[in-house]
Amino acid sequence: MSTKIFKFIFVILLSIITLFMEDLQSQERKTIVDDASKKEAMNLLIAKYGEAEKFRIEKGINQVAEFWLEEDGTAEEYVKFCRDNFTASGVQLESLYDRIEFFNEITFGYFTEMSIKLRQPLDLEMGDIKPVDLIMGSFNPSAHLTDDLFKNKYAFIVLLNFPRYSLEERTQLGMNWNRQEWAYARLASMFNARVPADINQKVNDAYTSGDNYISNYNIVMNKLVDDEMKTHFPEGLKLISHWGLRDELKARYANEGDLPKQEMIYQVMQRIIRQEIPENVVNSDQYLWNPYSNKLYKNGTEVINAVREQDTRYEMFLNNFKTNKLLDDYYPGLNTHMKRSFDLGREVSEKEVEDMFDEMLKSPQVKKVAQLVKSKLGRDLRPFDIWFTGFKSKSKIDEAELDKIVKAKYPDVEAFENDIDNIMLKLGFSDEIAEYVAEKIRVDNSRGAGHAIGAAIKEFKARLRTRIGKDGMTYKGFNIAVHELGHCVEQTLTLYKMDYYTLNGVPNTSFTEAFAFVFQARDLELLGIKNEDPLAEDLKALDIFWSTYEIMGVSMVDMKVWNWMYAHPDCTPAELKEAVINIAKDVWNKYYADVFGIKDVILLGIYSHMIDNPLYLPNYALGHLIQFQIEDYLKDKTVGPEMQRMCAAGNIIPQVWMHNAVGSNISVNPLLHAVDEALKKVK
Ligand SMILES: [Zn+2]
Repeated sequence: MSTKIFKFIFVILLSIITLFMEDLQSQERKTIVDDASKKEAMNLLIAKYGEAEKFRIEKGINQVAEFWLEEDGTAEEYVKFCRDNFTASGVQLESLYDRIEFFNEITFGYFTEMSIKLRQPLDLEMGDIKPVDLIMGSFNPSAHLTDDLFKNKYAFIVLLNFPRYSLEERTQLGMNWNRQEWAYARLASMFNARVPADINQKVNDAYTSGDNYISNYNIVMNKLVDDEMKTHFPEGLKLISHWGLRDELKARYANEGDLPKQEMIYQVMQRIIRQEIPENVVNSDQYLWNPYSNKLYKNGTEVINAVREQDTRYEMFLNNFKTNKLLDDYYPGLNTHMKRSFDLGREVSEKEVEDMFDEMLKSPQVKKVAQLVKSKLGRDLRPFDIWFTGFKSKSKIDEAELDKIVKAKYPDVEAFENDIDNIMLKLGFSDEIAEYVAEKIRVDNSRGAGHAIGAAIKEFKARLRTRIGKDGMTYKGFNIAVHELGHCVEQTLTLYKMDYYTLNGVPNTSFTEAFAFVFQARDLELLGIKNEDPLAEDLKALDIFWSTYEIMGVSMVDMKVWNWMYAHPDCTPAELKEAVINIAKDVWNKYYADVFGIKDVILLGIYSHMIDNPLYLPNYALGHLIQFQIEDYLKDKTVGPEMQRMCAAGNIIPQVWMHNAVGSNISVNPLLHAVDEALKKVK
């Protein structure tokens, strides 16, 4: 080959690479607004509105500039946009806010209603599910809404006029904000990012493949053998990792002789974490497998060569990291997945969450409750006893009797719907509120066990879905329906009784769940029956404490692994595996080793959420605390007026909401205190 041709190929290659790089750059979608244009906009606006507006002007022109792309106009057009659309504080701004609130309620309200209705064939008893039901049920009509609102510059008008505040600022300033200030701050956080569709797609694809991997990760339990080639589980028992394995392990506490089964499940879990599990026992019943020796058998006894799973678990994990990292550039001030997950998602900082978890994990109550677990089990603790289930109150009431009462009371959905105001009266709501809320809740017959969906515009009703058979509602159905009613009452109060639409709702799902559980816990009372177990409350506190102790450890692992990945962005799946194992051991050694008398346990690395729902786990732990704190506060109070008062705060940040609701921030103290009380009584 002549040098000429060589050069030619080289030039072609170079231009392809340059083209490729340009393509990447255009995909990055950087703002085209330079400092000079920002300065020009600033000077124009200060000249027009004066120094008194400097704070808002500076925030506004920067917030617009952050997201202003070539497709939105030239730098001159940016300056013109700022000049023409900035609104002075006071009456003018109030009237702009009102208009935006009006448009938001229409937009979100009708999109929500459309989604609810499109899902009806899937959610309600409407006969066979057709393929078209699945297509329209998963269709998201508002998928491109944010994009559209940037394109027509609605987003820019909001960003120009309403300063956005960081979580730190919301926490510090928020305590003294009035309702209007909260509403304005919330409005600005509507537009935190402008993510290109292809990047969102990549993140979704990673989640979908993680989800597929986990959904198809089953272990066929009757193919597990011990060293005597003995199987321990019934024919056909196929369990998904980790939920199915964990729940089977939990269920085995009911029978003392089942310890070997628990040990075997524990062994399987460790093989999964270490990726030593033979790849062809996943989702397959072809071979017998001894999880202790890690031997694989064909045709009953013939030992065959086992190929281990090739770190796929950690490849999936890493894939989530890499795709989520692509979002970093598009979220000003929220440039890591941790920040988006904590500051934006939960609105409690990572540091605060970690400190709370640390406080509870290290609390002296842990050792005392562990002693109780040990004495109930009559043996030394094993690592999997983090899932001990023995703190459940045993109901003395006959369920068949309850079914009879409930069936007579609620033969169909109409009967339940007509009784909502009555139920609310029993919970202490006033006549007026009970009637007002009840007529804004519609009860439907659902396919599943039940769920609740709130409306997003003061025009439609909240939907309570419950399953009622031909011969009426069962007690179990009632128990769930009352839970869903708690959601619907919250949803209605926080929409219809909210002073600013922007603040409708509660800070996050833990808060609505708290109200749902408050209702659910009073189900017998609503039927006029007394729960006669005097230890019920204490057992519940111990049960919540022990499961919170478990999930906090697991959450700590998840959080530390994400920080590790950001520090090692180019790691391989094998390196990530080592990191997860080491972090799981560290967390165990710090908070569990002394309590259990065993070191270097890796079990906290088993949760599947880490693979299919990045950094979701801390929600459970935080949710336990929030729910316990609210329930504990309401324990000796009348639910109705208190709930109405709490709900009026709306969607402000969790810490300020809680402070307003119970007089203190989110804290582990109420749970620790309840455990101290319970330890005096439960033996
Ligand atoms: Zn719920």
